[in-house]
Amino acid sequence: MSKKYQMYINGQWVDSSSGEIFDSVNPYNQKIWATIPQATKGDVNQAITAANHSFHKQWKNTSGKERSSLLHNLADIIERNADYMAEIESTDNGKVIRETKHQMMFAARNYRYFAGYADKLQGTVVPMDNPDLFDYTIVEPLGVAALITAWNSPITLLANKLAPALATGNTVVVKPSEHASVSTLEFGKLIEKAGFPAGVVNIITGDGNVGEALTSSPNIQKISFTGGLNTARMISRSASENLTPVTTELGGKSPNIIFEDANLDDAVLGAVAGIFAASGQTCVAGSRLLVQDSIYDKVVDKIVNKASKIKLGNPLIPETEMGPVANRAQFTKITQMINDAISEGAKLLLGKDPIEDESLQEGYFIRPTIFGDVNNSMTIAQEEVFGPVLSIIRFKEEKDAIKIANDSKYGLASGVWTNSVKRAHRMAKNIEAGSVWLNTYRTLGVGAPFGGMKLSGNGRERSWHTLLDYTKVKNVMLDMSDNVRDPFSLKT
Ligand code: NAD
Repeated sequence: MSKKYQMYINGQWVDSSSGEIFDSVNPYNQKIWATIPQATKGDVNQAITAANHSFHKQWKNTSGKERSSLLHNLADIIERNADYMAEIESTDNGKVIRETKHQMMFAARNYRYFAGYADKLQGTVVPMDNPDLFDYTIVEPLGVAALITAWNSPITLLANKLAPALATGNTVVVKPSEHASVSTLEFGKLIEKAGFPAGVVNIITGDGNVGEALTSSPNIQKISFTGGLNTARMISRSASENLTPVTTELGGKSPNIIFEDANLDDAVLGAVAGIFAASGQTCVAGSRLLVQDSIYDKVVDKIVNKASKIKLGNPLIPETEMGPVANRAQFTKITQMINDAISEGAKLLLGKDPIEDESLQEGYFIRPTIFGDVNNSMTIAQEEVFGPVLSIIRFKEEKDAIKIANDSKYGLASGVWTNSVKRAHRMAKNIEAGSVWLNTYRTLGVGAPFGGMKLSGNGRERSWHTLLDYTKVKNVMLDMSDNVRDPFSLKT
């Protein structure tokens, strides 16, 4: 029996005003397990109006202490419901439960981190040349923020946006992906329990048209988007009409680089987990593995061997290492890209074999797939697959590795495996990416800024840098002297 979900607008649970719904499909068995409302333009406007009203009526004037305490409440509630929320998320997008559980706890940590900033936002007194002038700044929230997320990690991605938005005094309209909306709607119940006033957080659901209605509205003051490059371009175009500032967190083709002086067992583990964790459906996936010539054969053997033993299965079972990919469209796209890579001449080292396990026949499963001796100019090395597909590329020297790593339109993440401290830092300096992992991969910290360079996006999430994206600075100047100065001259 599928569960019927509603949207959360102005503190009320509501259907779409048109009554239209769409299905949420469990990628493990292709069964419809929930129905979701398809919002109308009118619903979108209602959510924006509620957020706007709530912003002006109360939220922008709440004390930092109050906002901090609500964010801590929310973190407590997420922690208490982490198992349940993880199960929902894994059912909705097929990500293995051992990861989604960590993601829920990490989301809670993110709310706590920004709860700590809520009562520490402060302006400054500005030193003036003229001692009669007194100048200071006030840090203010922007207003209503539209938060749009992708389907691969709805709750973590939302925390990256919602925690700083609320901490700084903004109200929000959230739109999750139409491919995985359930966990965000369940999250709305946690928001309600935490005690946020009506209208502070609104959640609307539906496809790209709903997103478009939201981002083109003149009544929102900020857009934060996580998703694909083409969607980001569309959003930036519609935002430009109202000059709405946009943060974009997009895809990547991240290089994971193994040097001959690395600890090879660690590097192999990092390479395999870097691409096959979450079935490769993570923006930071280390989808290009650069391996130094002298160790190439040895490393590739180890990687193929390890990847061939990855346990595919039901994402809800803790032992499962790789679940299905999230939806039919993803399955079709990934399969097509694998076939195209073979046609383009990439050497298939692992993958393509049919999945024999009877219990996995209904799911969107794709085996770990590895191409060897890939040329970096091939499509499989340049375009994001967002699936369990690794391209291994050979390099001779450090300078070649840097050149290949940077020969990409993307610049999201990267990994370097070496035991030379000097080389590690040289690489960190030279790689064009928002994150550089040295002797580790896909390791996160709430205080560590995250975001892209080049076409992987702009703006940063997590860390104090994010506060700048959700606030504006007002300058206040007072002339304390009793003499009115000549109003027609430039005063300093
Ligand atoms: P997508 O761009 O198709 O959709 C993302 C969201 O945008 C969805 O909610 C969708 O409904 C909405 N949308 C679609 N058209 C819109 C429009 N015209 N206006 C406004 N909103 C619109 O992306 P996806 O398939 O959900 O996600 C996969 C992509 O996300 C990959 O490229 C991946 O790398 C990227 N991603 C990036 C990060 C990061 O933090 N950098 C994290 C996760 C995923």
